[in-house]
Amino acid sequence: MLIVPEREIPDLLTRGASFDAVEKVFAAMAAGDAYNFPVVREAIDHEDALYGFKGGFDAKGQVLGLKAGGFWPNNMERRQIINHQSTVFLFDPDTGRVAAMVGGNYLTALRTAAASSVSIRHLARGDAKVLGMIGAGHQASFQLRAALEQREFERVIAWNYHPEMLPNLAKICDEVGVPFQAVELDGMREADVIVSITSAFAPSLMADHVAPGTHVACMGTDTKGKQEVEAQLLARATVFADEVAQSVSIGEAQHAIAEGLIDKAGIHQIGAVINGTHPGRRSDGEITLFDGTGVGLQDLAVAAAIVDLAKAKGVAIEVEF
Ligand code: NAD
Repeated sequence: MLIVPEREIPDLLTRGASFDAVEKVFAAMAAGDAYNFPVVREAIDHEDALYGFKGGFDAKGQVLGLKAGGFWPNNMERRQIINHQSTVFLFDPDTGRVAAMVGGNYLTALRTAAASSVSIRHLARGDAKVLGMIGAGHQASFQLRAALEQREFERVIAWNYHPEMLPNLAKICDEVGVPFQAVELDGMREADVIVSITSAFAPSLMADHVAPGTHVACMGTDTKGKQEVEAQLLARATVFADEVAQSVSIGEAQHAIAEGLIDKAGIHQIGAVINGTHPGRRSDGEITLFDGTGVGLQDLAVAAAIVDLAKAKGVAIEVEF
């Protein structure tokens, strides 16, 4: 079996490789060639931790495995290690033997940023110029860098519940030479693309904060009860998701469904747009919304790409097992 330690991954995995792996597996999911297993997530009553598994099988890419891990809220304060901790295990689909163990922390940030980027590539207007960011935490930096590569953005506007965190994003904009401006939420009407990545349990972005023609990527809501945008926004938008089952149960759509504002049947898989079986955006005035809940197959696809890169660079550790 091969081991690719967490420390090697930032030097191996590029945003481009991550984007390609995620786009491909979303396409395979929509074609019925890949599927996710039910998610297990448990409060283990130790260290206030949430621990679980996300797994799946991609028959087309021949990738089988799971990501195990979760959230340990005391890590940073007590041990100076990040709170989100995960590891991916890949198995040989022909024999069931374990094939690889791959660090899952950096991978998670890049695969999540890749998902919103895939949605921007396929759903945002081609002439999008203003990128709006809601959230300025750990994931937001990765989201911003990846989103900026998808269109010729001329300006970034941002809002965060904790405004003191906004310099995290301003620094990235400085680095890449795109003007940055902090705005109030109603200022988001100027955005052509909005990426939302917060841990909120109540909506920040209201339907009236979003102009016609905008693409909104909702990336923070990955658990029952979380919510970033007003449910009414989903009723106004054409809604896409990484996986419809997750979108209606743990994603942003859970609220619009519960309020009877949208139907599950009206949510489209992003993979269908990639495959050309759904037209995607139909007009310049349409609001498109991507509900990115984070699926196990994204982790597995990116982990498999990391294993290939590690083998090519000679940094995968081989152990008899
Ligand atoms: P973080 O703790 O680093 O940042 C949290 C962000 O949420 C900050 O911007 C903070 O100001 C904001 N926030 C906190 N309370 C808020 C409130 N009440 N209202 C509005 N904003 C509030 O977390 P992170 O690692 O950046 O993760 C952000 C979210 O993304 C989490 O909910 C996490 O579970 C989710 N996530 C989703 C995926 C996916 O695949 N969809 C993957 C990884 C993380």
